[in-house]
Amino acid sequence: MELDKLIRDVPDFPKKGIIFKDITTLLQDGDAFRQAMNQIMKKYLETDAKIDKVVGIEARGFILGGVLAYKLGCGFVPARKPGKLPAQTIREEYTLEYGSNALEIHQDSINKGERVLVVDDLLATGGTALASARLVEKMGGEVVAIQFLIELGFLHGREKLLKYPLHSLIVY
Ligand code: AMP
Repeated sequence: MELDKLIRDVPDFPKKGIIFKDITTLLQDGDAFRQAMNQIMKKYLETDAKIDKVVGIEARGFILGGVLAYKLGCGFVPARKPGKLPAQTIREEYTLEYGSNALEIHQDSINKGERVLVVDDLLATGGTALASARLVEKMGGEVVAIQFLIELGFLHGREKLLKYPLHSLIVY
């Protein structure tokens, strides 16, 4: 199955000039969703990755991260937009392909020395993933890998994340 064909390009969303990669068209296809998750999962199941926690980035990272955490039998930790998490948080600012924002994570969600897999749907400029990795490290966690469904290679976000093993299922 050609998974890349199931991702819908939406021009000028959320701003003029951005081609939004809409993954809902892949997610709504049960076989494709399962195949994508199985392909991603394979390398973490086959290698002795020993992941303690999956950090999923709001919001589409929750969908992929939840499946991964369940399959790997480890904990799931949400990295959320400001003001969404109810308890004490730590925060990291970042810039986005279209704007800037911050991410927060519960300050008791990752223990010192825990091995963490960071997950999001798409790598653009890399700011979001870098902020998430920094949050993990602030808590003493080790970022074992960063996993994306899609990488926009022409934006070179990977260069911001050179210190981490980085994997993408589909590269444009
Ligand atoms: P960045 O920090 O620039 O790597 O942006 C990545 C984050 O923004 C991810 O959470 C993506 O879901 C979202 N994002 C950025 N650009 C796009 C795009 N062209 N299509 C879909 N999502 C995007």
